[in-house]
Amino acid sequence: MLTKIDHIGIAVRSIVEARKFYEQALGLVCEHQETVESQKVKTAFFTVGDVHIELLEPTHDDSPIAVFLAKKGEGIHHIAYQSDNIGQQLQDAADQGCTLIHEKPIQGAGGKEIAFLHPKSSFGVLTEFCCPSKEHASGILPK
Ligand code: ZN
Repeated sequence: MLTKIDHIGIAVRSIVEARKFYEQALGLVCEHQETVESQKVKTAFFTVGDVHIELLEPTHDDSPIAVFLAKKGEGIHHIAYQSDNIGQQLQDAADQGCTLIHEKPIQGAGGKEIAFLHPKSSFGVLTEFCCPSKEHASGILPK
């Protein structure tokens, strides 16, 4: 089951440049920056209420974010829904005919398990499911 919108991913050419807007014009605080090697992205997180804004900057020319920027330019890249059972969520979407980018969850920023549906199945919006990793949920790893 989906429990909330966890975050909105925004593709930017430079996190250093984009942070100025979020910090100075919007008055938000950057809480966390992390490079996710598997996705070839640098990320920066802000929080509004209980929804996060995730800035995404490519670290390589063949990063999915670099491809997105070349095609569409900067802007909203994906919507991430929190799920209480990401494996089941993927199975249900697949059963309904959705094309999955990830058949199984992968490790995302913040130690979360994440998986993407292909935007051709979701009316042009790249859709992510995410859930806190079991280690985080049970308090084995520090946040
Ligand atoms: Zn995301």
